[in-house]
Amino acid sequence: MSQNKEIPYKIYLEENEIPKQWYNVRADMKNKPAPLINPGTHQPMSAQDLSAVFCSDLVAQELDNDTAYIDIPQEIQDFYKMYRPSPLVRAYCLEKKLQTPAKIYYKFEGNNTSGSHKLNSAIAQAYYAKKQGLKGVTTETGAGQWGTALSMACAYLGLDCKVYMVKCSYEQKPFRREVMRTYGAQVTPSPSDTTQIGRKILAENPGTTGSLGCAISEAVEVAVNTEGYRYVLGSVLNQVLLHQSVIGLETKAALEKYGIVPDMIIGCAGGGSNLGGLVSPFMGEKLRGERDYRIIAVEPASCPSLTRGKFVYDFCDTGMVTPLAKMYTLGSGFIPSPNHAGGLRYHGMSPILSQLYHDGLIEAVSVEQTSVFEAAEMFARVEGILPAPESSHAIRVAIDEALKCKETGEEKTIVFGLTGTGYFDLVAYEKYNNGEMDDHIPTDEELAVGFAGIPKFEGNEI
Ligand SMILES: *Cc1c(COP(=O)(O)O)cnc(C)c1O
Repeated sequence: MSQNKEIPYKIYLEENEIPKQWYNVRADMKNKPAPLINPGTHQPMSAQDLSAVFCSDLVAQELDNDTAYIDIPQEIQDFYKMYRPSPLVRAYCLEKKLQTPAKIYYKFEGNNTSGSHKLNSAIAQAYYAKKQGLKGVTTETGAGQWGTALSMACAYLGLDCKVYMVKCSYEQKPFRREVMRTYGAQVTPSPSDTTQIGRKILAENPGTTGSLGCAISEAVEVAVNTEGYRYVLGSVLNQVLLHQSVIGLETKAALEKYGIVPDMIIGCAGGGSNLGGLVSPFMGEKLRGERDYRIIAVEPASCPSLTRGKFVYDFCDTGMVTPLAKMYTLGSGFIPSPNHAGGLRYHGMSPILSQLYHDGLIEAVSVEQTSVFEAAEMFARVEGILPAPESSHAIRVAIDEALKCKETGEEKTIVFGLTGTGYFDLVAYEKYNNGEMDDHIPTDEELAVGFAGIPKFEGNEI
């Protein structure tokens, strides 16, 4: 389509153009993501089983593979208005720096205090918990963005919020911790002695600095054993991708205002929520055969679940207390090398994205963290925004694709997700600035240790 209107630096939507419904990409998938199953019986988890852990409206969303559009409750729409619509930015300065004929756009989700896209789902999950009359929610947080987003949402709605924070982040990121406490959350370093599973992990491995998988086990244990509490999760689950579709719907609406059709859409992938949300409406068109796009997931070489993982049923946590999800996984015991500073350290990947990848509908690449920080530095210097290390994975590949266009002379249109800002990641930037950052790519032998912990049963061979 011709792009004859001058494209502004920022394409903003009007407030009344914030989506009023989320889009559920599962409705258009021929091969649905596999259901969560009970680790004992291997039967699909029923709504009743799941409602011990999650609040009931979220269980319904988790299990709904058929409804394409789901209304966003008015209260959530009102909350969205405080920081949405988020801008779609034309990266003119980056294009100029790269001297590429490619046209680069990024959807910036860092314009809120949590500094990331995670608030889009935090408010939804807190809303449904409140609606059910619960007292509070429990969760885990790694780098801290999810915990921050959830504390903000809980403070807004008057819900109690208990956050299990991976111990090394708790110690290395005191500022994140204090933001959460300012919003009223109770923050506990994980593993802790407040749970059975935490005490067990500490007994087996006293010096451990924790992992996301271990913090999930603790948060789930507390939720199921505390009256009036449920557990909430910031990524991976179908419901989270549903809420994050607001990113993709806004992106598509903004592009359409100027008749722009992207050739490729790029996003970083930790548990898959921002990428899943960004690409959902585009993937819908692709699945319905209306249009084709290249969709690229970018992951760290040190935690390569899509590019080197196995597509099997696995636990979502280290303590093996959660249901099993069918996903690309490195094994729930996998912990990325300690020198990995760049986020995106979860062992598995969203079952929706896993299925789409398995079906050849998305591509995946892995990148090394020093090259990610090089991209982050260039981006910060020319576009002005200090990007989160996670987001910088997408920047890296957007730059690489734009440089390919420079060689071929192709004027491709690239859209990527800039999921957040990096103000709380300055220890990682410090390492990079001091030249102390290096790359660790796990060997096949190292990965085999994680794979060995994947549950084995008929039909789940690795
Ligand atoms: C959590 C986070 C991610 C990764 O999570 P996904 O679920 O894969 O989106 C990426 N960027 C930022 C800024 C985050 O906070």
